[in-house]
Amino acid sequence: MSEIIELTVKTNRGEEMIDITGVVQKALQDKGVANGICHIFIPHTTCGLTINEHADPDVVHDILATLDKMVPAHGNYRHIEGNSPAHVKTSLVGSSQTVLIAGGKLRLGTWQGIFLCEFDGPRQRKVWLKIVSEA
Ligand code: ZN
Repeated sequence: MSEIIELTVKTNRGEEMIDITGVVQKALQDKGVANGICHIFIPHTTCGLTINEHADPDVVHDILATLDKMVPAHGNYRHIEGNSPAHVKTSLVGSSQTVLIAGGKLRLGTWQGIFLCEFDGPRQRKVWLKIVSEA
């Protein structure tokens, strides 16, 4: 059984999408895994995970701007902590992704990157990885 790898990511703003493709790639290289799958999980309720374009930063801008339109900053929210929009956005993007590993590398599409989506920062966030190697 392989263990769970815990990565730490420090976010810098209230909302941002941080490209974590490189740190995930390094983790599987450190494990020496050639082929298999990598499950990536975010153990937070106001921070999510998505895969999208990491070539043009305007895509990230547009995703965050669109989420803002979908989930207003102020509304008839009941959650007393006051960060309901961050909780809703996290559920919209989700908390996990699974990526194939081939030849020691994450098998992503040409333009794809893995993004940690901070919706209630800045904070220190955890990312849990489970790397399953083909025997
Ligand atoms: Zn809350």
